[in-house]
Amino acid sequence: MERKTFTSFVPPVRTLMGPGPSDVHPRVLAAMARPTIGHLDPLFVQMMDQTKQLLQYAFQTTNALTIPVSAPGSAGMETCFVNLVEPGDKVIVCQNGVFGGRMKENVERCGGTAVMVEDAWGSAVDPDKVEAAIKKNPDAKILAFVHAETSTGAQSDAQTLCRLARDHGMLTIVDAVTSLGGVPVRVDEWGVDAIYSGSQKCLSCTPGLSPVTFGERAIEKIKGRKQRVASWFLDLNLVMGYWGEGAKRVYHHTAPVNPLYGLHEALVILAEEGLESAWARHRHHHLALRAGLEAMGLKFIVKESDRLPQLNAVSVPEGVDEAAVRKRLLDEFNLEIGAGLGALAGKVWRIGLMGYSCKPANVFYCLATLETVLGAMKAPIARGAAIAAASEVIGRAA
Ligand SMILES: *Cc1c(COP(=O)(O)O)cnc(C)c1O
Repeated sequence: MERKTFTSFVPPVRTLMGPGPSDVHPRVLAAMARPTIGHLDPLFVQMMDQTKQLLQYAFQTTNALTIPVSAPGSAGMETCFVNLVEPGDKVIVCQNGVFGGRMKENVERCGGTAVMVEDAWGSAVDPDKVEAAIKKNPDAKILAFVHAETSTGAQSDAQTLCRLARDHGMLTIVDAVTSLGGVPVRVDEWGVDAIYSGSQKCLSCTPGLSPVTFGERAIEKIKGRKQRVASWFLDLNLVMGYWGEGAKRVYHHTAPVNPLYGLHEALVILAEEGLESAWARHRHHHLALRAGLEAMGLKFIVKESDRLPQLNAVSVPEGVDEAAVRKRLLDEFNLEIGAGLGALAGKVWRIGLMGYSCKPANVFYCLATLETVLGAMKAPIARGAAIAAASEVIGRAA
């Protein structure tokens, strides 16, 4: 190979209003630029212990096994399944979008059997169907579902689903990748057994870390496994030795030191704001964005009671090339919004209001630029009303 001249990669400053990553808080980026120290340095270990406490707050749990997995949300998902599902286990998996399908994949790759409970894309998981499936499959050991379905913007009733599972002696695996920090997640109160999230959605850290927490019943099941966990890297029996308290820490892998500075800072920011305030902020800005989008004539695909404030999925108007709209938003306005996935590809836009992206400036910017682009493309929308409608809502106290 010939030596060529390469230059540094300097990304543009975008406004990220897709399904994640969200805009990273400047304090998080600053934290990540601090000097790298050893991952067994006592000061780093202190920071790891604080990160656990901050995650316990974010998850509303006292679970000792509360850690960030050193890999993205998908690895948090895999950590839950690979540790809790043994060959031959039957798992009831709810699917109402893309991510439930990935849970099924995980169950099957662990040698388990997935019993699917399906709901339409854009609907919440139906607890009645889940209850019927549990009754039909009394040997099922685990119930798995997605709390906040990022592919559609629907929120399911995690509390009710967890209670159903408990009542039937089953464990729960919950996907909270998009919910954590944006809507209430109460691990202890709801009796969740295993739950995973991601750093890049409502926590507004960079992508690549997956907070997880496991309760006592889940740990018991892991300790009582007949077979070793098939993944060495994600085997919690080993990971626990690394993330254990203080000095007993044994080397497992080199923690991603600087990304963990970033997650720590993101969680400090969340604790400063307070969970309740963060949830209220997401709701407030969602209502403002919604007022603007509806004033333009765009329609939400999820019914009002099941809508996630942090992920707004609206139908693409008749005759509009949805990809061309996103391209113009990105090229001309540095604004990223999300496309539809799977069954909704080409049919919807997904507009994220996650974490640091969830603020008045972004609501107004998105409405103004979307209206500009749709107007220029002669799309059938109402012009001139969106900003006023959003402004009306933003002006009210959160
Ligand atoms: C983003 C997301 C994931 C996957 O997270 P990655 O960090 O992309 O691996 C899983 N589940 C849901 C609901 C998500 O939104």
